[in-house]
Amino acid sequence: MAKLFEAKKLSAFYGATQVLFDIDFAIEAGKITTILGANGAGKTTTLRALCQIVRTTGSMTLNAGEGEVQLVGKATDAIVRMGVAHVPDGRGTFTALSVEDNLKLGAYVRGDKDAVAKDMEHCFKLFPRLRERRNQQAGTLSGGEQQMLAISRALMLKPKLLLLDEPSFGLAPLIVAEIFRIMRQINTEDGVSMLLVEQNASLALNLAHHAYLLETGTVALSGPAEQIKNDESVRRAYLGY
Ligand code: ATP
Repeated sequence: MAKLFEAKKLSAFYGATQVLFDIDFAIEAGKITTILGANGAGKTTTLRALCQIVRTTGSMTLNAGEGEVQLVGKATDAIVRMGVAHVPDGRGTFTALSVEDNLKLGAYVRGDKDAVAKDMEHCFKLFPRLRERRNQQAGTLSGGEQQMLAISRALMLKPKLLLLDEPSFGLAPLIVAEIFRIMRQINTEDGVSMLLVEQNASLALNLAHHAYLLETGTVALSGPAEQIKNDESVRRAYLGY
């Protein structure tokens, strides 16, 4: 399978504090890759590095069909325009705007305005609750609905790569199950590649094809999700059985 993205010797820093230490990881086109790890392992920082909103060294290449591009040193806006959509932790929706206006904003870099209405319709098909609430202020949505909106807004970019930061965070199990089911659908039916950061290792390993385990800013383990799921140390430390 072709590599959509590859990080080599990637390090990240907040001021003088180093948080990622020379990590290597790759994302295959059309697949879901997950980064697991405990609190503070550097999962969120890895997504921030990919979007270049934290100081990084090393190499990150994206090959979204038009040749290989080096992301390190690029402006965040340029990376978004290459088709990398970020669903940050805490969702990051515009709370004062309606559901529909949030979705329109997700498409701000696109020139094909006619297709935007069609894609909004697609989001409403994926998440019917958003259609019912299309004129409601985003800030008044439930946590689960805000997560659905955040994912939909990212989809409005027509992303080549969707970055998801803890989509399960703070949500009831039934809502989480619904959101993960739709994430799988977005991957299998729409072919969107994903990098999923999760503390809930069991959920993430059931969805993803490939997994990396981060421990204090280094890759402790990686492999097919099925293999990581059966790793004895992962089972004990992250899956609880
Ligand atoms: P969590 O699940 O708790 O968010 P994480 O694996 O996503 O954990 P990060 O948020 O990437 O971890 O944090 C990695 C390390 O970087 C932690 O030690 C954290 O304290 C530190 N860190 C995160 N953000 C900043 C910041 N803005 N300034 C300084 N240090 C930070």
